[in-house]
Amino acid sequence: MRAGNSGTIPCACCGGFIFKPALNCEGFNFVRCKSCGLVQMNPQPVKNEIIARYNSEFADDYLSYELENEAAFLKLQQLALRDTGFDKLEKTLFSCCKTDEKPSALDVGCATGSLLESLCVRGWRVTGVEISSGAGYAQKTRNLDIKTVPLEECCFPSESFDAVLASHLIEHLNDPRSFLTETFRILKNNGRVFITTPNIGGFQARLFGGHWRSAIFDHLYLFSKKTLTKMLKEAGFKIESRRTWGGLAAGFAPSWIKKPADFFAKRLGCGDVMIIRARKTS
Ligand SMILES: [Zn+2]
Repeated sequence: MRAGNSGTIPCACCGGFIFKPALNCEGFNFVRCKSCGLVQMNPQPVKNEIIARYNSEFADDYLSYELENEAAFLKLQQLALRDTGFDKLEKTLFSCCKTDEKPSALDVGCATGSLLESLCVRGWRVTGVEISSGAGYAQKTRNLDIKTVPLEECCFPSESFDAVLASHLIEHLNDPRSFLTETFRILKNNGRVFITTPNIGGFQARLFGGHWRSAIFDHLYLFSKKTLTKMLKEAGFKIESRRTWGGLAAGFAPSWIKKPADFFAKRLGCGDVMIIRARKTS
């Protein structure tokens, strides 16, 4: 896997070619664009190799990991969505919709489909995108409509969805700009995108550097609130809410340290993970 890569690539946000070192990890490096500040692995593996990786022996491990942690991940996703006003938005959408046309949600990188199932129970029309083995599980066990190719290849009609959700997905993509452009196209006007991703501007990233738990080979980009905001705005979105959470990793410190660290990280906006809610405006 590590043998084939793209060679040095330009910044995915501004197209710049001048970088400075950001994080040195074992066998790969993250660099920071001098112009816009985006941190990306460079060079990085090519798209076909990444897709092959999610369908290799790695796939079974991934599915087991997702299933083992499913309840905890779902709870975190729901909390993050609530923090950005998803529940309020849901109420408004349902109060305005016709009975035969319920609001529609797309979860990109939906894993085993647990979030989609919970939205389905709440009355949403749901669709998922998942290129890994989680897709089969979501299709067979949960009977969900799952597309198994990258979003850009799904060819959804324009203005199809009221909400697009992408949790821990964008940092894995070779071309986050193309993902955001496609998301903008398939959202209805005033539709919302909710993106969750590790926050390189957070306390833990600063503390651990190259040993930060999100500085891993599968993450091609490490966004801060500033760089993700810039990319969303350039794709046409209006930012509505930005939240972070996670002061210290579970197991790293006793709860009497972790609890206040989590509290202050959230309050100060320097948590380990962030969610940004943005709206498509015409
Ligand atoms: Zn740049």
